[in-house]
Amino acid sequence: MTLKERDKKHLWHPLTQHKVHPDALPIIKAKGALLFGEDGTEYIDGIASWYTAMYGHCNDYILEQVQHQMQQLDQIVFAGFTHEPAIRLSEELIKILPDNQEKIFFSDNGSTANEVGIKMALQYHFNKGEKRNTIIAFEDGFHGDTFGAMSASGLSVYNGPFEDFFIDVKRIPTPNSENIDSVLQQLQEYINTHKVAAFIYEPLVQGANAMHMYKAMYLDQILSVCKKNNVITIADEVMTGFGKTGRTFASDYIKTKPDIISMSKALTAGFVPMAVTSCTQNIYDAFLDDSVGKAFFHAHTYSANPIACSVALGAIELLHTEEIQNDIQRITMSHKNFDAKINNHPKVKTTRQQGVIYALDLDIQMDRYGEKRYEIFDHFMKNGVALRPLGSTVYILPPYVITQQQLEKIYDTIVELLDQI
Ligand SMILES: *Cc1c(COP(=O)(O)O)cnc(C)c1O
Repeated sequence: MTLKERDKKHLWHPLTQHKVHPDALPIIKAKGALLFGEDGTEYIDGIASWYTAMYGHCNDYILEQVQHQMQQLDQIVFAGFTHEPAIRLSEELIKILPDNQEKIFFSDNGSTANEVGIKMALQYHFNKGEKRNTIIAFEDGFHGDTFGAMSASGLSVYNGPFEDFFIDVKRIPTPNSENIDSVLQQLQEYINTHKVAAFIYEPLVQGANAMHMYKAMYLDQILSVCKKNNVITIADEVMTGFGKTGRTFASDYIKTKPDIISMSKALTAGFVPMAVTSCTQNIYDAFLDDSVGKAFFHAHTYSANPIACSVALGAIELLHTEEIQNDIQRITMSHKNFDAKINNHPKVKTTRQQGVIYALDLDIQMDRYGEKRYEIFDHFMKNGVALRPLGSTVYILPPYVITQQQLEKIYDTIVELLDQI
């Protein structure tokens, strides 16, 4: 039996209606920006496997670091014990995070990083003797699939079965030049009429919301209102973190710094799952007390796994090399040139870019997971390019190490699609 056949026996894939789409594509190897299928077919990983493998798959430098760590210390309970990889990683993260961040809390994935951020914010107020129960979020944001993170996610078309169990979330639209005044007004109204604990947002780029982009200037105004009202601000940098927007964090573009930042995905470069929630000294201090009940009782068994920490240390080191920074510049410029070529194409509705993130909306009607979307997906795969269109949006978020030739092939395949549809 082929892998494809064996897969169907026991596996249940995420985001998949198995009745309509029973086949998953086996990948047996990956290196750099390339994925290799069972039959040897090569695919260019145009989205870095959901924005994780930014330094290339199976990166040799990171591999070296992990191998060393695996022989030294594999796992240790992080309650009551500590280890050098976690200590060093906290030091390195604090160096590159916005200035106000002081403390590092570990978990395993982007959803739990946000779950931790939301719980920190709720307990921050609770510890100060205030019960605040409302979270504010953007209408079409995405923060993950655990209950808190899912509640805060506006893209809830698929969350019907769970809506009755959501935590209390009020939503505001993402800001633009036309609606900013009314967004600020709506926010203030929620703050006046509800016990608002926190505001969670994806800074500048909303990944799952078809790479919707909005301006730092408007976010800054929203964050200012939150600060004035002691509403804890949580920047979900799970997608935007570690260089993708052109700066280390998207929050670096915004004057008002968040109280809490969640990170995952590129944090561990596609090697292993890990997540971090960082916060300010002020948040942390609210949990210090003689009473154990004011401590943060949230733990995951693999918190600060030493192997994952060593991967993250290697990744951060690579991010700040001249080579990777040049790659980020190169990809950013290439996207700009490509955009100039195609943004007038009759099948292109709009385009947008932030750093290495490039997206275009096709001028056709289609559902997010409709059949047309699968046809477009197949067009790319047949041409050896792995892209995952989000509805009528085609986006590229390539590994930094993608070669220029590979990048051009992605562009060519998109132009071909535009000429065909
Ligand atoms: C992917 C993502 C998440 C969820 O992370 P998981 O590791 O898939 O749980 C949360 N927020 C944003 C912005 C994301 O892109």
